[in-house]
Amino acid sequence: MKYLDEYRDPRLARVLLDELHRTTTRPWSLMEVCGGQTHTIVRQGIDEVLPPGIRMIHGPGCPVCVTPLETLDRAMAIAARPEVTFTSFGDMLRVPGSHTDLLALKARGADVRVVYSPMDAVALAQQQPDREVVFLAVGFETTAPANATAVLHAATLGLTNFTMLVSHVLVPPAMTAILDAAECEVQGFLAAGHVCTVMGWTEYEPLAARYRVPIVVTGFEPLDLLEGILMAVRQLEQGRFEVENQYARAVQRTGNGPAQEAVRRVFRISDRAWRGIGTIGASGLELADAYAAFDATRRFDVGRLTAAEDPRCIAGRILTGLSVPTDCPAYGTTCTPRSPLGAPMVSSEGTCAAFHRAGRRRPAGAAVSGGAR
Ligand code: SF4
Repeated sequence: MKYLDEYRDPRLARVLLDELHRTTTRPWSLMEVCGGQTHTIVRQGIDEVLPPGIRMIHGPGCPVCVTPLETLDRAMAIAARPEVTFTSFGDMLRVPGSHTDLLALKARGADVRVVYSPMDAVALAQQQPDREVVFLAVGFETTAPANATAVLHAATLGLTNFTMLVSHVLVPPAMTAILDAAECEVQGFLAAGHVCTVMGWTEYEPLAARYRVPIVVTGFEPLDLLEGILMAVRQLEQGRFEVENQYARAVQRTGNGPAQEAVRRVFRISDRAWRGIGTIGASGLELADAYAAFDATRRFDVGRLTAAEDPRCIAGRILTGLSVPTDCPAYGTTCTPRSPLGAPMVSSEGTCAAFHRAGRRRPAGAAVSGGAR
């Protein structure tokens, strides 16, 4: 398969691994920010064949996992209204809110539908002028341009029955918060390639210089990740702290200008709560005033919400790399993909789901590091 098999070639993986072993002289801790990269690392067992002392810390780059509980509760309160057709990507339907999830709401008769693009939701609004169509817009810089384009399209069509519940998050402020945390052990980052296809990597340059951390823009295939790890370790061994681009086949330094322009038109930067982490200043996007008519929080008053996390879930420690899923007392027992207690076990990019799918087990009698929050 052209353009895929060449990034999964076991002989080339061996060459990169050998080079990594030759390069490494001491322990280093690297964080892969993106949940998609976590899944490749765990599924392929890459973290298990690295030189001793090279530790991969799994980061917060799962958009489903970091969507705040309060937003999910709001989504469910809106979806329960009889005049609403509520739309979302499939992953979001099973994410637990404080009391229920969207799938359970659908089973009880709410008009909740899976869509594959925000444009599908706009089309639904066109087809059903007597219904209020709401789209739950989550994700990082990667998905923001498509959501911005959907709002622009709805505005062009003059739709008055289409709104978005926006919960967008931005990667660089989250990396800054991780580096500022007292317990931070991250010495270098693998930055998510698809985020950088949109935003480029100029925002990372001051971060790398200020915190003296290498940041390597990296793809998602096994060879991408091995090469990204090698590039980051090489920098650390040489005392360099720069932004480098492993994913040159897709990413340019200044990113995608038209996509950035659509996002700038439709959204503005705001403080944002991250589920399990807390509020990070200037780390989110919300609809700009010019597009306030498309803001579901303004259209639907759902009253005061009191969000309450399941106390058994240690997702916050997992999302910040302080614990791994096998540290969680509920992992694989009371929390499984069929019966998830937290978002990281639901999402296709969640770290707990990655560990569970790869069959990683809690060591028998293991002490629990982290504990319930
Ligand atoms: S295993 Fe389940 S309960 Fe534990 S942190 Fe992951 S999602 Fe939360």
